[in-house]
Formats: sequence, C-alpha cells, structure tokens
Amino acid sequence: MTRVSALKVRVFGTCRLRFRYQYVDKLRARLRPADTAGSLVHRVLCDFFTKVPPAERSEETLVRLFEEGWAALSAGYHRIPGVEVHREASLRQLANFARCFDLSAKPLMAEPYFQEEVAPSVTLFGRLDRIDEEADGTLHVIDYKGGGRPEEIDSQQLLIYALLAERTLKREVSNVSFWYLDDGTKWTTDFGAGDGQRTLDAVLATVREMEGVTAFPPSIGGHCAGCPYLHACEVRDEIAARRRREGW
Ligand code: SF4
Repeated sequence: MTRVSALKVRVFGTCRLRFRYQYVDKLRARLRPADTAGSLVHRVLCDFFTKVPPAERSEETLVRLFEEGWAALSAGYHRIPGVEVHREASLRQLANFARCFDLSAKPLMAEPYFQEEVAPSVTLFGRLDRIDEEADGTLHVIDYKGGGRPEEIDSQQLLIYALLAERTLKREVSNVSFWYLDDGTKWTTDFGAGDGQRTLDAVLATVREMEGVTAFPPSIGGHCAGCPYLHACEVRDEIAARRRREGW
C-alpha cells in the first residue's frame, strides 16, 4: 500500500533529496519557529469556529484564544527557541482575519482528517483546514496560508484536497480557495466536472514515478529556506553560498 498526501506530491516535485530524507530515510524534521507559530494560528481558527458561538466571535476572542495557546507554548515543553519573534506577526494575521473574513460563518468542517483508498493499493490522506457548504449544497475547500498572496499560484494542493473531500464525503466540491492571512486576500477557483479525475490521474502518475525512483538529486532554490531538512542537507554549504549571492 502506498500512502500519499498533497505534501508528499509537492516535495517529490520540488526536491528529490528532501523526498529521500523525508519519506525514504525518514529523518527527523526540524520545525522552524514560524511553523510552530503558524500551527497555533491554525488551531486558534479551528477552535474559533468549532467552540465559540457566533454571537461571541470577535477579534478580541481570536486574540484571547491565541494568548491562551501562546501561554501554553511558552510554558510547556513545546517551546521552540526563536518563536517569540513570530508573536506579533501571528496577532496581525488574526487581526486581518477579523477584518477581512466572515466571523459568523458556520464551516461544515474544521481541520477534518481524511484518508481514502483512491486506487488499488494507493491511499490518499491529509488534514484540510476547512470545508464550507455553499447555498446549493456543494462544498468549498479552504486552505489558510501564512504569508501574502503570491504572484503565481500553485493550486495542486487544493485540487488534491478537493479530490480527497469528494471521495471521502461522497459529495461534490465546486470551489477551492486559499485565504492569505498576511494580507487578508482570497484566491478561489472552480473545481468543475473532470477536475477530480484529472487530479487523480496526476496523483497516480506521480505515485508510479515515486515507486520507481532511484536517484535523489538536490534541487537548490528559494524553497531551501523553508526546508525542515536544511540542517542535515548534504549540500547546505552550497545553499548558504547561493543564499548569500542571490539574497533569498
Ligand atoms: S535544503 Fe534544499 S536541496 Fe537540501 S533537501 Fe532541502 S530542499 Fe533539497
């Protein structure tokens, strides 16, 4: 049985060396402080929509949930050196959320975990940020993104999530969106007839490639700055030189 996620597909397409570290050698990842702060913001948004009644939802409530989570982070063994510098940025994200997005919304699901056998011996799995129900009964898959809206948008992750939601819930997905927490913008596209099958075909083609891969060359670029295996990467000296030269 091959287990595959949107992240695994992305890593395979981005850097084969990271793919080897993460999925073949199963090295321990080193989480960045920004990841810890980002996880807390996601948890706050999940709790906000699942535990707080609509009448009590406000920016102040978001901040209170964040402060409670932050206190637990700071006091507990989860604390990661350097996470403090992300506190203000996280609070700004939540303020943007309160200003730009509908706080009274009733998501159908927040942070659901799905896994589904999508082909013989291939299981697709993942945790989605949020699923809303449209007025016509179709589903809208939403992913919260730290950062602002980039110039080029790679929708692969959303398409895979939509496929997973359709297969698991046996319901039609009509829209997929990224919601950018740094600038409060959204990017939405249709998930139409045929998109599910096209996405499945692409995932299965990638799985076949993964199963036959024997070479794991590094791919150096801006993505290395966020790689949780940078500390162990065999080309990290070259990466450091490129970062100094190219300024990423
Ligand atoms: S640091 Fe860069 S080259 Fe090294 S494994 Fe990570 S993504 Fe690949």
